[in-house]
Amino acid sequence: MRALTYHGTRDVRVDTVPDPVLQHAEDILLRVTATAICGSDLHLYRGKVPGMESGDILGHEFMGVVEEVGSGVKALKRGDRVVVPFVIACGDCYFCERTLFAACETTNPGRGAILNRKQVRSGAGMFGYTHLYGGYAGGQAEYVRVPMGNTGPLKIPDTLNDAQVLFLSDILPTGYQAVLNAEVGPGRTVAIFGAGPVGLMAAACARLLGAERIFMVDHHPYRLKFAQDHYGVEAMNFDDEHDVSQAIVEATNYRGVDASIDAVGFEAKGSAVETVLTTLKIEGSSGATLRHAIACTRRGGIVSVPGVYAGFIHGFMFGDAFDKGLSFRMGQTHVQKHMPELLRLIGEGALKPELIVSHHLDLEQAVRGYEMFDKKQDDCRKVVLTPGGPVAAAAPETALQSQAPLS
Ligand code: NAD
Ligand code: ZN
Ligand code: ZN
Repeated sequence: MRALTYHGTRDVRVDTVPDPVLQHAEDILLRVTATAICGSDLHLYRGKVPGMESGDILGHEFMGVVEEVGSGVKALKRGDRVVVPFVIACGDCYFCERTLFAACETTNPGRGAILNRKQVRSGAGMFGYTHLYGGYAGGQAEYVRVPMGNTGPLKIPDTLNDAQVLFLSDILPTGYQAVLNAEVGPGRTVAIFGAGPVGLMAAACARLLGAERIFMVDHHPYRLKFAQDHYGVEAMNFDDEHDVSQAIVEATNYRGVDASIDAVGFEAKGSAVETVLTTLKIEGSSGATLRHAIACTRRGGIVSVPGVYAGFIHGFMFGDAFDKGLSFRMGQTHVQKHMPELLRLIGEGALKPELIVSHHLDLEQAVRGYEMFDKKQDDCRKVVLTPGGPVAAAAPETALQSQAPLS
């Protein structure tokens, strides 16, 4: 089959590789009909995450049609159309029973050993996300083996097309969990850092849940404009605004927002010193966004962090966070927990995640897709890849209604 494979920093290729086969009773084999490139894939593409091996198949946002099922799969049959969560969870361990699926302790047993930590119980395995997360082959491919067929894949009604539901695999639940963690609701104010796909999904969910004001910070005008037009955010460009957190504090009567969401993560653009320190790996992550999030959040407020972090950060301002009595909530998304509710909201037309797609490409063009998404070329917001080429031409954006009527 054809698949997008990793060969080194900024070196991905569409190769011919062996077809996957069923390995366990609960596996299914999926024929992929649509798969997306995620900001998390960019961390791998840029060589920032350890544990990648040459030839690894990338991709953790995908959906398709069930081709084969293992003898232990009761929830699905051949021919079912499903979206697959990026988190691989067993459904019945200590954490899965508490719906903390990203903490599943059975699907990535080797992690503690790889990190050379003692006695650590690992979190869940993930598709296409390094050998630290289990070394599972990803779904930017024609076919993929999906473990835990009874727990993960969600059946999709024929009334919804691929683009409408594909983001149930990751970014939509991630944005949703971020706003739930931030306790966004009517009368509440929120600042979202990062207008990438995750930030945009968070803005969509914040709007849906009735947020009073949504501030959004980035430095790509085309992304900020999209968020303004579709989700009514108050956009702030950090290239133009000397101190974005101070500007947010001033705009909220010197109190700060009820919550902030860091949808950027460890590669946040910060000072030159920070860039040097992270490049030399003296610093694990850039603390640029977290500092602004702490600074713009009101006393007793919440900092919600869906953006991925690694290692340590020196300039964390824990003293400020303590003084303000902030709460921090973060982590990988418990995708399985949120999927059914979000599918319902898509079905009702309350959420239209497909609006953010800017590029529909053939899987064969995946290398170009990575390049555009990485360099933010051609106003790239989100790339969807289709093995065999896009089935239906994407509807022009102007013909689609914006998700929520803006007043
Ligand atoms: P993306 O790279 O497309 O978007 C990130 C955006 O942040 C870009 O538009 C960039 O310009 C902006 N940015 C950079 N520095 C900034 C700063 N200092 N202040 C404000 N904005 C800044 O990526 P994405 O797909 O939107 O993903 C965002 C993050 O979410 C990544 O770290 C990704 O790994 C993570 N993620 C986490 C989960 C999870 O389960 N928690 C799931 C999916 C993605
Ligand atoms: Zn992702
Ligand atoms: Zn589990």
